[in-house]
Amino acid sequence: MADVAIARCKDYSSVAQALSEALSGRLDWVAPGMKVALKVNLVCGARPEAAATTHPAVVSALSGMLVARGAEVIVGDSPGGLYTAAFVNRIYRASGMKSVEAAGARLNQDFSQREVELPAAAALRRFQYTAWLDRADAVVDVCKLKTHGMMGMSCAVKNLFGAIPGTLKPEYHFRHADPMEFAQAIVDLADFVNPRLSICDAVVGMEGNGPTAGTPRFIGAILAAENPHALDLCAAHLIGLGPGDVPTLAVARERGYIPGRAEELDVAGELFQVPDFKNIPARHSVEFAHPFGGPLGTLAGKAMKRALRSAPALDRRSCVGCAKCAEICPPAAISMRGKIPAIDRSRCIRCFCCQEFCPKGAMRVRRPLAARLLNR
Ligand code: SF4
Ligand code: SF4
Repeated sequence: MADVAIARCKDYSSVAQALSEALSGRLDWVAPGMKVALKVNLVCGARPEAAATTHPAVVSALSGMLVARGAEVIVGDSPGGLYTAAFVNRIYRASGMKSVEAAGARLNQDFSQREVELPAAAALRRFQYTAWLDRADAVVDVCKLKTHGMMGMSCAVKNLFGAIPGTLKPEYHFRHADPMEFAQAIVDLADFVNPRLSICDAVVGMEGNGPTAGTPRFIGAILAAENPHALDLCAAHLIGLGPGDVPTLAVARERGYIPGRAEELDVAGELFQVPDFKNIPARHSVEFAHPFGGPLGTLAGKAMKRALRSAPALDRRSCVGCAKCAEICPPAAISMRGKIPAIDRSRCIRCFCCQEFCPKGAMRVRRPLAARLLNR
């Protein structure tokens, strides 16, 4: 079987056909009575057309396929915010995810948490996670392809951060403030969740100010793979990114989970590229090479890297002064001056939680002039 399957899909009305194509031979492990958890992307309560969440048509079609094989299907996620029945059920309704019940799936109502210790992990050695994933015989990662302020791209691997309860996510951002360290933590988490299969809804993805306030963009594909990192490598290729632009891909490459280029994978289907896809200007220069050797060169390299880092910036015209950004900011770098959020740059860790969770898309990712001039 190919490492990754890419099936073209012209719209959500024909998604069942594209899924069958992408999943051909990939569901043979499903046995009658098996509990399968579909870890979808429900980052917020946006309607499906906003392209911030996995489209319910994909989840319904997949649920139908699994139910037809006798599986019990449970759909869930931990969105940004409270991990409670009232909050998550509101997100299910707003995102159209209630419709998956008609396909025989049920929406997760188990909001318990567990703690685990992984002493051998590179970064995430002790953490809380959502226990519903444990009660399944297999987890299927059903993600959405979107831009992401901190990680460059949100796809199969970043979607697994939803295994951390919403209220604790800022704390994990704070603990792993450096983008590369955060990427190590996310890859540790992907190792722990160990999805049996990953499927990407890239029929309509999100470009620009993602992962919640960007613009829907037609991509026209469903991707499937056993290895979530291989799926991400292909998805990144589709939108014009490589391992140097996506820290989780760089980590996966370092750990030997993927090759350096999507072209080195065995891909069933066309490894195409969307022209002029608007990626978020948050490239972390993970392959930044400083010009001098020795300790001085290292210092110079670090200083240059800092100077080229993207940062959050407020679009005052869109801001309504709701203070959500200040509430969610992990290091409390945002204070409200009346109705205006002010960012203390010395405390900001560039996690872009404020940009991700601003309900009005008023926080943007600003690329410094030096980076624009150098086109990094
Ligand atoms: S969350 Fe968005 S709209 Fe609300 S205060 Fe912050 S920037 Fe303004
Ligand atoms: S200001 Fe925004 S990017 Fe900076 S630490 Fe706070 S939430 Fe993260």
